[in-house]
Amino acid sequence: MAILNKAFFHDEAAAFAKLESIVWPKGPTCPHCGNAEKIYELKGVRSKPSKANPEGVERLGLKKCGACRKQFTARVGTVFESSHVPLHKWLQAAYLMCSSKKGVSSHQIHRALEVQYKTAWFMTHRLREAMRSGQLAPFGSGGGAVESDETFIGKDKSVRQRTWHFRPTHMNKVLSLVDRDTRQVRSFVVKDIRLSTIAPILAENISREARLMTDEALVYMYIGHNFSMHRHVNHSANEYVKLYNPTIHTNTVEGYFSIFKRGMKGIYQHCSSKHLHRYMAEYDFRYNHRIANGYNDMERTDVALAGIVGRRLTYRGSRSTSKH
Ligand SMILES: [Zn+2]
Repeated sequence: MAILNKAFFHDEAAAFAKLESIVWPKGPTCPHCGNAEKIYELKGVRSKPSKANPEGVERLGLKKCGACRKQFTARVGTVFESSHVPLHKWLQAAYLMCSSKKGVSSHQIHRALEVQYKTAWFMTHRLREAMRSGQLAPFGSGGGAVESDETFIGKDKSVRQRTWHFRPTHMNKVLSLVDRDTRQVRSFVVKDIRLSTIAPILAENISREARLMTDEALVYMYIGHNFSMHRHVNHSANEYVKLYNPTIHTNTVEGYFSIFKRGMKGIYQHCSSKHLHRYMAEYDFRYNHRIANGYNDMERTDVALAGIVGRRLTYRGSRSTSKH
């Protein structure tokens, strides 16, 4: 069966069942009081009649808490709660974004799902937010190799600048780290590539026992000694791999940049610097959950959806945040 034929991409009740399996892997929990004991299904309840639906629509997935007597669905507390877009369209959008290596534009989502462009834009940004990793464990723990490199993103076609005296300041700058052992990437949108910016990021995200692999940029010459080993290749002399030791290179992170740049060029032409970190999160997410790391398209989509659920306000969270 083709994956897009799956019921939850078309049928709202099936989409609800899918969401419930992600929100409540151990069975339903009341989002109002946290009770998981007595939860009743409310079947056949209809919403208030409206012009478009004079008989109301069935309130799918409606449940009632035996402890606090309040009603809820799996949408409560997730981004889906405040969205008028049917759940099965959210699942379609998540799948489209997760299954294409270079991503899809809001325009494509707008056309494919037949939702307003503004709606499509909102959906894609929420899904990108869900893909943002909260992973904080430092790379290179256990002495593995970590590659670090920076790139410029923007319209300017000029070649990457290597000198400290001439930096194109109008372009967006991205720093990416790749852990070769875990095959994970972690990217940062940075305001500049000075020592004062780069050093703290490396200190926080790379283990001291790691072997650091970089190019010849001066900034790494100052911080390389913080790690168990630092080796670099000399890109300005067209050296991409050390001949005497082929593990010394930054080809993995360069390869990642090329996927990102091809995608940004083809799909996201007008990415403002304000949103760049979300696009980076999207590319990092797909790379970290790529086929070579053991994820197929549907599994990758499920992880992204779990991210949306993970960021929902819980009954505790909603109380504490309402104070501010
Ligand atoms: Zn309750």
